[in-house]
Amino acid sequence: MISTTVAAVVTRFAPSPTGQLHAGHAFSAIRAHDFARERGGRFLLRIEDIDPGRSRAVFVKGIEDDLRWLGLGWDGEVVHQSARFEAYRGALGALGSAGLLYPCFCTRADIAQAASAPHGPEGLFYPGTCRALDPAVRERRMESEPHAWRIAMDKAVEQTGRLHWHDEETGEVTADPLRFGDVVLARKDAPASYHLAVTVDDAWQRVTDVVRGADLFEATHIHRLLQALLGLPTPRYHHHPLLTDAGGERLAKRRGSESLANLRENGADPAALAEALRRGEMPAL
Ligand code: GLU
Repeated sequence: MISTTVAAVVTRFAPSPTGQLHAGHAFSAIRAHDFARERGGRFLLRIEDIDPGRSRAVFVKGIEDDLRWLGLGWDGEVVHQSARFEAYRGALGALGSAGLLYPCFCTRADIAQAASAPHGPEGLFYPGTCRALDPAVRERRMESEPHAWRIAMDKAVEQTGRLHWHDEETGEVTADPLRFGDVVLARKDAPASYHLAVTVDDAWQRVTDVVRGADLFEATHIHRLLQALLGLPTPRYHHHPLLTDAGGERLAKRRGSESLANLRENGADPAALAEALRRGEMPAL
């Protein structure tokens, strides 16, 4: 008899604690939570706090309170990315050894001013200023100047060849990371960027299904590339449409963007809210 083992489903909710959660976050958390629960799987909570300037402990507590209030229990310990820097350094080291990274000293203003800077899917497309630095100058500047690490995207793509991923909403997608240019993989103030940390952690936590908003669809082009370069598995992706109000508009300022903390304090019924969100509706509160 042939027996096959199907990996149990693992999903995660991975907010950045840089503000309070609102209904759009709740909608996404419910989608990830229910996807796992309906399949007897695990639902994880990961706090994406690599940004030292913007992350706050008070928002971490708020996220946990909001999820509990909505009845969304998570499995195991909460993972904090701020405690995972060694893992990101390891991944960065591997990419560096493969000759795919270079240090970048540019400020945002430098990049914005570069005459040829066009726009990529994530904003300004890096014009490659620091890639062309003389090696001796680079060495010297590295000793005294803060620097980020960028990936030499064309070299990386050459190494991986053509890549695909499966998205439950859109089907088979061909990765096109070249459109993003030489993105930052480690920031000046943290040994990782969102792209690197999320890719490393989804693999480390054995996430089988990434359920998240369609606003992060584009980022997956880069995550798929990093998976290939780092020898990590590719999860299935489910980029759900963003929550809209009854008229089909993205959440209006007054209603949808009201924080869950406010709703909680004002006595809103969490069961009614969660039920409406499960129907894809923004309830009148
Ligand atoms: N931390 C990201 C955010 O809050 C989401 C990460 C992800 O789901 O991949 O937008």
